[in-house]
Amino acid sequence: ATPMSIMVGVGRGAQSGVLIRDAEALERMEKVDTLVVDKTGTLTEGRPKVVAAQAVEGFDPGDVLQKLASVERASEHPLAAAIVADALDRKLSLSPVTDFDSPLGKGVLGIVDGVRVVCGGAKFLAEDGIEVAPLVTLAEAVSAKAATVIFVGIDGRLAGFVGIADPIKASTAQAIAALRKANVRVVMLTGDGKTTAQAVGLELGIDEVVAEVLPEDKASVVQRLKTEGRVVAMAGDGVNDAPALAAADVGIAMGTGTDVAMESSGVTLLHGDLMGIVKARQLSKATMRNIR
Ligand code: ADP
Ligand code: MG
Repeated sequence: ATPMSIMVGVGRGAQSGVLIRDAEALERMEKVDTLVVDKTGTLTEGRPKVVAAQAVEGFDPGDVLQKLASVERASEHPLAAAIVADALDRKLSLSPVTDFDSPLGKGVLGIVDGVRVVCGGAKFLAEDGIEVAPLVTLAEAVSAKAATVIFVGIDGRLAGFVGIADPIKASTAQAIAALRKANVRVVMLTGDGKTTAQAVGLELGIDEVVAEVLPEDKASVVQRLKTEGRVVAMAGDGVNDAPALAAADVGIAMGTGTDVAMESSGVTLLHGDLMGIVKARQLSKATMRNIR
């Protein structure tokens, strides 16, 4: 495309909150036939809330939440913020945590009031030798409503879980429908559990759902699709999405997300509105048509 037509396209994008970094991103957008999207913070608002809490018999429910929130206070994850806010609402006073660790995309752990507290998905607790079987039926019911389940283990025993819901953005359904109508295949990637991921996928009519993806594997999924000959755009918001954003033919970051995601992307959606992806494709088509 000519520098002039590119400038016009970039300018029109900016007016509607679609920031296009370079000519390449604008040119490639029209050829995209596959959109890979991160769930949390991209399809959803990224403002999660605790909607369910369950303790195992023999554990005090308030104490389980207090231990969980005390560990999560040291984490920067949006799920952690929801758990801490909920504990403060319940007027629980949090304790200091030592030996804190937060393996990316898995969960958090630490020592609180002399006990070892491990919080995260079922697989993460299993690494600590904790089976979630006693709560699995209750947890599945929460997951089926699209909430994320965080299990809590205390000193090697299952203590309870919380369910955390993150509402789907108002614009998401419309954007996904428009893209599918334009024959774009939509693939959702998430570190979240299968049941939660499938509930969201079903609600939005997403073509393929890949759940329980570790941060380092998000980029491999993008690579795999590219090897299959697809032209891939990846939309994400988090630090853990950056390698996948960089690996895609076009990276699309949420302006509401982290700086690292924006730095790894050719396109940034200023308000995180996914209709911006539809807009970017239209701009790309118009720009390329002008110069042909
Ligand atoms: P996504 O890919 O949907 O943005 P993440 O990779 O950030 O999700 O997280 C994946 C999973 O890791 C979560 O669903 C949760 O089970 C676990 N996890 C991540 N951070 C935390 C945390 N602070 N506390 C508990 N669990 C966590
Ligand atoms: Mg995310």
